[in-house]
Amino acid sequence: MIYMDHNATTPCDRRVLEEMLPYFSDKFGNPSSLYQPARTAKKAVDRAREQVAALLGCSAEEIFFTSGGTEADNWAIKGCAAKSKGRHIITSKIEHHAVLNTCKSLEKNGYELTYLPVDRYGVVDIEELQKTIKKETFLITVMHANNEIGTIQPLKEIAGMAKEKSIYFHTDAVQTTGKIPVSVKDLGVDMLSLSGHKFYGPKGVGALYVSKGVKISPFMHGGEQEKGRRGGTENVAGIVGIGKAAEIATAEMEEEGRKVKLLRDKLENGIKERIPEIVINGHPQQRLYNTLNLCIKHIEGEGILLHLDFEGICASSGSACTSGSLEPSHVLLAVGLPHEIAHGSLRLSLGKHNTEEEVDRVIEVLPGIAAKLRQMSPFWNQK
Ligand code: PLP
Repeated sequence: MIYMDHNATTPCDRRVLEEMLPYFSDKFGNPSSLYQPARTAKKAVDRAREQVAALLGCSAEEIFFTSGGTEADNWAIKGCAAKSKGRHIITSKIEHHAVLNTCKSLEKNGYELTYLPVDRYGVVDIEELQKTIKKETFLITVMHANNEIGTIQPLKEIAGMAKEKSIYFHTDAVQTTGKIPVSVKDLGVDMLSLSGHKFYGPKGVGALYVSKGVKISPFMHGGEQEKGRRGGTENVAGIVGIGKAAEIATAEMEEEGRKVKLLRDKLENGIKERIPEIVINGHPQQRLYNTLNLCIKHIEGEGILLHLDFEGICASSGSACTSGSLEPSHVLLAVGLPHEIAHGSLRLSLGKHNTEEEVDRVIEVLPGIAAKLRQMSPFWNQK
């Protein structure tokens, strides 16, 4: 199998798994209890909080564990809305559905939403952002890097604008945390969402960074866990896992990034040379080093995926949440691609275990698949 869908999920690092395993059995204590095994579990959770904080360059008290990126996004946005007097939120058209659908639910409840347009590379329109800020705006939420096309947003600039007007700024950094350096202080964000399974940690665990002094209401009402802001017995093994994954990422991401970028560039150039009439999506430079999103004109992304699967190659036609639906990706439509081109999208997202041989194999089989599908395509034959 050749796995090139790391933006959907990554395999759990063996070192992470080993660290987690004792917390399912031998070290099973509930961190809230008052005896030795509980203290062991509590210590492990505290350590993981330090490890995640070190990855983001913040203090451990600013890290709150969640069940993943989706919960962190929901919490940041709804928690902020519940505490604010304002009624206006600014976001972008290309956010992940965890943000978009949270915003839409608030819209149904009477909040006013602005969905910022993006340019053809997927970069948000900063001038438009400046114009849309108003007295009632209490939150700007713009993702760090897009999961489909990999474009990285100018967060520092956006944070500067938000700060100037005393508006909270949240970013969904699920696709960047653990892949590229993410410093919450450098970026100037008030809240940031991350998810363990995107950087070789376990699924079902994430975190929300909440800068000291930022007022958001609790998301889960329950016990006093997470300083009373997120009730529920901690997912100790998962938290230990995300901590270890953060520690590994801190130490290894730079080296890994260099290696993966070389492979991605080789893949991109090889495909460009061998398949005519394709569109490469995302920003040419300000893009995640592991992501290649392209549209092969006159064919359907789903058809490409089925043929790749037959060859043992795992890829995606967009985000995992929209695959299976016949609607083209909202991200590709937002960057201005017409429906018929957006339908032919393919996302190959690489990771640390990919090899040059695997890249060569994809470059070898993809042109044949494209040619075969094009032969069957009425649009190609009408040309
Ligand atoms: N935000 C982005 C940008 C993502 O790519 C994802 C996952 O695909 C999420 C949020 C949701 O994260 P999780 O799967 O941990 O709920």
